[in-house]
Order: sequence, then structure tokens, then C-alpha cells
Amino acid sequence: KLLQATREAQQPARTRDGQQVEVAANVNRPEQVAAALQAGAEGVGLMRTEFLFLERDSAPDEEEQYQTYRAMLAALDGRPLVIRTLDIGGDKQVPYLNLPHEENPFLGVRGVRLLLRRPDLMLPQLRALYRAAAHGPLSIMFPMVSTLAEVKLLRAQCEQVRAELNAPVVPLGIMVEVPAAATMADRLAEHVDFFSVGTNDLTQYVLAIDRQHPELAAEADSLHPAVLRLIAQTVAGARAHGRWVGVCGGMAGDPLGAAILTGLGVSELSMSPRDIPAAKASIRAADLAALQTLAQAALDCDSATEVRALQGAQA
Ligand code: PEP
Ligand code: MG
Repeated sequence: KLLQATREAQQPARTRDGQQVEVAANVNRPEQVAAALQAGAEGVGLMRTEFLFLERDSAPDEEEQYQTYRAMLAALDGRPLVIRTLDIGGDKQVPYLNLPHEENPFLGVRGVRLLLRRPDLMLPQLRALYRAAAHGPLSIMFPMVSTLAEVKLLRAQCEQVRAELNAPVVPLGIMVEVPAAATMADRLAEHVDFFSVGTNDLTQYVLAIDRQHPELAAEADSLHPAVLRLIAQTVAGARAHGRWVGVCGGMAGDPLGAAILTGLGVSELSMSPRDIPAAKASIRAADLAALQTLAQAALDCDSATEVRALQGAQA
């Protein structure tokens, strides 16, 4: 029984009629890779590098970061790895960076807004990433992007570092987690290689509900049609330029969420390893056409509660 479950976990997630969705894991450290692969991950779709910076007294230097990224690639043994640059600010604070107090840190200097202001943080990270890229299929992803101007600056920085190191070209993607990025996806897609939707922040920003708010967080359901419509818009924008779209927020690991996202045309889902078996099972349970119908029905709902009620009707 256990052997059968393990074998099933390793199988790809294909709809009944054969549409495959790539299922990856959100993993922050090389030591967590083996368990993720055991759970059925086909790669790492989100490595949150801020975890290398937390609970210590100073930032990891280029060499330390390089060793960590290289160890991730080694543990993945040829499978794809998407590394997200530092996403500090918002809920994640790092005392030794001495960042100024902000009244609304989720609306402040967070993610790439910080990196673009702090070359002392961005350059060692990009150098470490490009050095690591020689050792396996690495992609770089930027968090909290909200404008095309940011994308252009980031690309230019990457190209400069790459050229200096004579490193290979690396796919460059952005998180779509600010509503502006979703609504401008058709424009942004021209300048990036892929999108990964961060449904945790996208939900927070589109519903104007702090993702950690003790009273309101339960209402911040990623399956809200307002969020789904932004994801549909992101997929349409990406398609127009032949880019792929993944989802690495919590919605990817919700079985109903995984089914709806597949129906919306998302091609990669990255999630906590423990959510992988149920998400794969959900994709395998239906034909693509049925999931497309489900996704359309969800887009037509008035609330997250209505979307959740589609679950029973699904089979
Ligand atoms: C998200 O916002 O959905 C996401 C994946 O990023 P994080 O949870 O690290 O903000
Ligand atoms: Mg986020």
C-alpha cells in the first residue's frame, strides 16, 4: 500500500484526457528537497531566499548564497529550480538591515522595491545566482513587481551581472502578486520569460485585507472571483506572448484551487510538499474541458463562498 502510494506520488499530474500540469514544491533549503521529491515534486517552483537572511546577525555574502543555490541544484539533480530574490519588508523584517519604520509595510519598500534601492543586497545575490546557474536549470524570479519600469531595470541589472561573469542566460520571471501586474500582464509579458502568481499577496492586495489580520484573514479567500479574474487576465496576457504561467501561492495547493487553475490555463503549480498528493489527485480526476467549465463557472460566481460550493458539483 505504502509502496503504491509512493509510486503514485511520483507520477505526473495529467487530466483524464492527458493534459499535464507541472507540479513543483515551495522549498527554502537544500535539506528539504529530498522530502519534496518523495512527496511527488517535479522541481522547485519557489525558493524564498529571505529565509537565508532571517534569524541571523548579518546578511549572507555572495559565496554563502552561491553555495546554497548550488546545493539546491545538486539536490534537485537536473530538475528545474526557480529562485526568488529577496522579499523583505511587509511581514518579514530583518533587524540588521536597519530599514526605516513604515506605517504600512505591505504598501512600502518591499521586494524588488527594496532590492532596486539597495545594490549592496541585489548585486551579491544576482552574482551568486548567475554563478550557480552554470550547475543546473535555474530561473530567477522577482517578487512584488508592479511596473514595467522595474522589470526593465531588473533585466538590465541581470544582463550586466551575467556579462561580467560570462554566465549562461537564465530565464527571468516575475511574481504576479500586485493587482497592477495582473492587469498589465499583456505588457509585462513581452519583457519576462514567465509569470508565477502569488495568490497570498494578490488576494491581500485586491481585497484590501491584511493577510495576517486576526479578524479578517478568513475572508481573504484566494478563490474569490476577483482574484480568479486577475489570474485569467494574467494567463491571457502571457499567452499573447507565448509565456508560461505558474502559481506559487496557497491556492495552488488547495485541491479545488488546483482544479480551477488548471482550467484557467495555468501550466505549473508550486506548493507546500504536503499538499502535492491531493492537488495531483484533483487534476487527475477530470478532463481538461470539465476543468475549463469549472473555471468559467468560478469566474461567473459572486463570492468565494459560491466558488467553494462548486466543489460538490465538480465530479
Ligand atoms: C504569495 O504572495 O502568494 C507568495 C507565494 O509569496 P509569499 O507568500 O512569500 O509572500
Ligand atoms: Mg508574496
